[in-house]
Amino acid sequence: MHLNVLVLPGDGIGPEVTREAVRVLQHVAQKWRHQVTLTEGLLGGIAIHQTGTPFPEETARLASKADATLMGAVGLPEFDNAPPEKRPEKGLLGIRKALGVYANLRPVRAYASQLDSSPLKNHLVEGTDMIIVRELTGGIYYGTPRGIFEDGAETRAVNTMTYTRSEIERVSRMAFHLARARRKKVTSVDKSNVLENSQLWRRVVIEVAREFPDVALDHILVDNCAMQLILNPRRFDIVLTENMFGDILSDEGAVLAGSIGMLPSASIGDRRPSGAWVGLYEPVHGSAPDIAGQNKANPLGAIGSVGALLEYSFGLKEEAAAVDAAIEAVLRSGKVTADLRPSGVPATTGQVGDAVCAAI
Ligand code: NAD
Repeated sequence: MHLNVLVLPGDGIGPEVTREAVRVLQHVAQKWRHQVTLTEGLLGGIAIHQTGTPFPEETARLASKADATLMGAVGLPEFDNAPPEKRPEKGLLGIRKALGVYANLRPVRAYASQLDSSPLKNHLVEGTDMIIVRELTGGIYYGTPRGIFEDGAETRAVNTMTYTRSEIERVSRMAFHLARARRKKVTSVDKSNVLENSQLWRRVVIEVAREFPDVALDHILVDNCAMQLILNPRRFDIVLTENMFGDILSDEGAVLAGSIGMLPSASIGDRRPSGAWVGLYEPVHGSAPDIAGQNKANPLGAIGSVGALLEYSFGLKEEAAAVDAAIEAVLRSGKVTADLRPSGVPATTGQVGDAVCAAI
């Protein structure tokens, strides 16, 4: 297969972890005889430095031509007080919007060798294996009207939570398709006891579920979901939810697994004419300026994102499974970075990349 991938290393530890992820991608391609075309582009703080804008037009052009985009992280402390248009994070929102990636997938998996890194007791977190599917381009983060309307003591702030039937349908279908390849269970999260928006969400999810009679569907209110993620995370397989609820719940999910450094994510849109799904793949973590340039960042989140890229954009399940198995083997071996609290001397970013390639 021909894999046409755009790489956006970004800022801080972004280039360090992306370097290892790209090595793993090339290693997989060599072993399974795929042809990889890699293009590199600018996004975030580095793009502001070189072009004056966090999401240059050239990057948008490259992303629209690539089958999949692999990203590091963006963000530099020097831009913390810059206006919104001149902040690296604006580049992130820009590329998500430009690619139309409407479903954000975050796997939450407790690896047996890492149970002690979780803040939960081992018996609670053991066996956890879910994917949180978050709607990414609609809901209250994008709805209008919005704004702060100044009027002295009556000053009002307004945000609008809005969804259309088609927005709910497409992300729901994605969730049910994913469930088919797993334990065949979708849990839809809403607040339908209070919000009309959630009532439409629930109605449409039930309709879409009829297309997937082999997949079980249940519903849970978002407040109860927040609690059940901590009390009984094993009960979840696919968690389907709207943008803001998903933003919050997926960070709660992130701590179940241990270090934020090992979490991958995938954001998926529609299919390209080539048959590949448009996808943006990135570790969950940020640019970690506190450890940047020290070769001690954990690259497993970025490497796991390569596994997701192989599976979701190209349908290469065997290759993706090999990447996941290699990550698990490396975790078991104890050759891990300092954030995972190894018993001996921590491995460097590059050594973890080497170990993953060797395990593949
Ligand atoms: P962060 O994720 O960068 O770091 C939080 C903590 O986790 C830090 O102590 C860091 O050292 C540690 N950490 C993160 N990734 C790690 C890794 N791979 N290995 C080992 N330790 C790791 O979050 P933050 O400090 O809140 O944000 C820093 C910058 O990143 C900000 O500019 C923020 O806006 C940006 N950010 C970007 C993204 C993104 O690009 N998707 C996401 C979150 C934050």
